[in-house]
Amino acid sequence: MSENIRLYIEDWLYTSGVVGIYNILKYSKDEVIVKDNYVEFNKNCLVGFEDKYFNYFIDKYKDVISINKIISFEEFLIKHKESNFEDFDENNLEFLDKSIREVFKKYLKSNSYKAAYDLIEIDVNILDLEKELKGLKLKKKENIEDIISEVKNQFDILEKIIDYFKSDSAIKYIGAKNAMYTVIKNGWNGVCFLNPQTKEKDMYLDYRNYFINPVAEYIDDNKEKYKYSCFACDGAMKNLSNDLSFVNATGFDVNKKSSHVWDFQNDVAICPICKLVYSCVPAGINYVYDKGIYVNENTRMEKAININEKIYFELYKNNENNKRLTYKALVESINKEFNNKLKYELSDVQVVRYENEKYKFNMLSKNTLALIKKSESELSFLSNKGFKEINTYFNIYELVVERLLNGQNMFTLIQKLMYYKISQPKDSFYRANDIIKILKINKRFLEEVGAMEYKEKDIIKFGNAAGYYLREKYRAKGSVDKLSGISYKLLNALKTNNKNAFMDTVLNCYLYTKGQVPNIFLDVLKSDEEFKTIGYAFVAGLIEGENKEGTDNK
Ligand SMILES: [Zn+2]
Repeated sequence: MSENIRLYIEDWLYTSGVVGIYNILKYSKDEVIVKDNYVEFNKNCLVGFEDKYFNYFIDKYKDVISINKIISFEEFLIKHKESNFEDFDENNLEFLDKSIREVFKKYLKSNSYKAAYDLIEIDVNILDLEKELKGLKLKKKENIEDIISEVKNQFDILEKIIDYFKSDSAIKYIGAKNAMYTVIKNGWNGVCFLNPQTKEKDMYLDYRNYFINPVAEYIDDNKEKYKYSCFACDGAMKNLSNDLSFVNATGFDVNKKSSHVWDFQNDVAICPICKLVYSCVPAGINYVYDKGIYVNENTRMEKAININEKIYFELYKNNENNKRLTYKALVESINKEFNNKLKYELSDVQVVRYENEKYKFNMLSKNTLALIKKSESELSFLSNKGFKEINTYFNIYELVVERLLNGQNMFTLIQKLMYYKISQPKDSFYRANDIIKILKINKRFLEEVGAMEYKEKDIIKFGNAAGYYLREKYRAKGSVDKLSGISYKLLNALKTNNKNAFMDTVLNCYLYTKGQVPNIFLDVLKSDEEFKTIGYAFVAGLIEGENKEGTDNK
């Protein structure tokens, strides 16, 4: 029996698990051989694999798991203790109060933390300490000095709590709990330590018993009498006891094992090695909380490993202000991957996204990639622009790239951005000039897909300038306030694709200012796409200036 385990590229999900195993072993400095279509490692690498498994997730996702929110609070404590609370002010008090309520009280009492306390070999009762923590607010007529002794008291309790969570044992078990519920459960669920009824309380032992020991037995077993073969790798198998139902979104619901489904599942039985591979899917896919992204590069193992590693880097290491934009990370990693290669090597890329507990697939075609590359400068302006809708913040860069991926034009997005800019400027964190950037990307897209003929003439610039100068005329007449009503009318005409209504409003405006109608409006009548491109650029010029910085359209 060979001492080595070799895992081949298969379908994307299996391969993501192979990438995951590679990541885990590499992270613990094991030797892994990567060949064109497989990875190979010695079976001894599986000794202590349960520790390698959890360590990988705890470190890889340390920026988002909750135990680090607790530990990192220490900085605040040290800073104020060292300065003897000299500059401890009301803002600090508010921050302390908020952290006690929203971090400490919330997590310390949570079920997943409570379940881990028994495993941690430290004789401190965290739940007793938690009861001693209380929020701190100034009463009327009270000063900081009046409650500073209570603040110091809370500091002492927090220090004890943080010391506990900083211990190896707490990081091991609480970190593992965090990893289970923030990351691992995105890939698989319902069995082993993610089975709510599991008998083994220690997730490390549970993982070893459920996933690793069967592999060791399987490798040492004499397989000559095996009559079944594995659905995933085609290897010989003794029985059909392992199936794919624990892997998320494969279509098999672990909770609904009716006899009929059971029969069907027998067809997809897998061997212990493949079961282990699937348990590593969450180490191959990159997640931002419950959303995942994976580039399916199924031609070469090394590429699959590299491109997804780059995405992780962009998401967690190379991000400004902890903004984790999945499409931005995707675009940047692909750009970097292809930058040092010749153009003709650029090939279509399949992107897998995990959202709402389902996998979605997009093909990022060569043309779309080229379009994104050409639009780099416009896109770079959009990455920190966004708007709030009800209580959700939307990033414009992500919305634009999502549309490109789906092969959709940007007109409904532009309509919405224009409308919000006029109607709810407080929730719109962009300028009309950013909409011009989207129009430019959109024009390129429309030309690329053949929806609009390529135009040398910069219709966006001309349309935008016409709007800008008309605005100046209105300003000179002291009637700028009329423009928002006019803009609403124009947006409505654009939305309903009504060229006549649009031109009527435009002509009235020029009549009012006694100006000549610019030639660019002749192009409006040529096609729906030209109408909308010029029309929105015009309205952007008309509304820019609301924030008194709209001068770069001249
Ligand atoms: Zn197998």
